[in-house]
Amino acid sequence: MSKQRVPILVYHHIYADGDVSGTASQAGVETESRFRQHLQYIVDEGWTVVTTSQIIDWLIDDSPLPEKAVGIHFDNGWLDTYTRAMPILQEFNMTGTCFVITDGLEAATAGQEQAVRTQTEGEVTKPFMTWEQAGEMLAAGWEIGAHTATHCKVADTYHEKSDRGVLWEIETSNALIAKHLGVAPKHFAYPSGSRCDETDALLADKYRSLRLWHFEHPIQWRWTDRSTSRLAIECQNIDVRVSMDEFKAVFDGALDGTLDGTTDGTATNAMG
Ligand SMILES: [Zn+2]
Repeated sequence: MSKQRVPILVYHHIYADGDVSGTASQAGVETESRFRQHLQYIVDEGWTVVTTSQIIDWLIDDSPLPEKAVGIHFDNGWLDTYTRAMPILQEFNMTGTCFVITDGLEAATAGQEQAVRTQTEGEVTKPFMTWEQAGEMLAAGWEIGAHTATHCKVADTYHEKSDRGVLWEIETSNALIAKHLGVAPKHFAYPSGSRCDETDALLADKYRSLRLWHFEHPIQWRWTDRSTSRLAIECQNIDVRVSMDEFKAVFDGALDGTLDGTTDGTATNAMG
């Protein structure tokens, strides 16, 4: 069995360089120049940015994948993913997957604001992209993934409202993505990494893959490999707290296997 480890980098915001120091929390935020540095490193070291579907096809169906493959995810559907991240990725001839909070896109499309609770920044009101902008990303080769309707912590929702609460989030989100973009989302990212066995079971036949998320810092090393369950896709949160050396170590560790990743297939929830 191939020992290949695939890094999946998860970003939230790309800000202009000068805009970062003033934010209340630097968690979840990366600067334009650092983001360019990341992408340049990926090119220089001979890595290939692949889509989430390519990674999951490799995992499930044994489809071919470049030897040094990396995935790039953007969570939530913030406007700056469209205005800043997409053009920079385009310069490098790369695309990503954007996991959208459908309530946020509905509000943006109606010219309104939508407050959401985030693990990185608490309750925030920040501009989301519109459905039209998400459609442009899709047309440019991005994948659009599901991330619930309200950004709810799915395990909490399950315990409070049982199956019905979780299914409402999923069905509302999937219906809006289908209505506006004409596609069924194939991949799902757990908001705040909140999951439990019951939610895995509920979502298993709704999506091809379910992605975890960990917010710990100092960074811990996580890759998706052949032993990873499609219900517990591993990823690496990237923001300004992650040094360039740590960023490089994500890739070095994927290649040489010396760093201890939590890639034993056990679904862990660092968020508690
Ligand atoms: Zn999120």
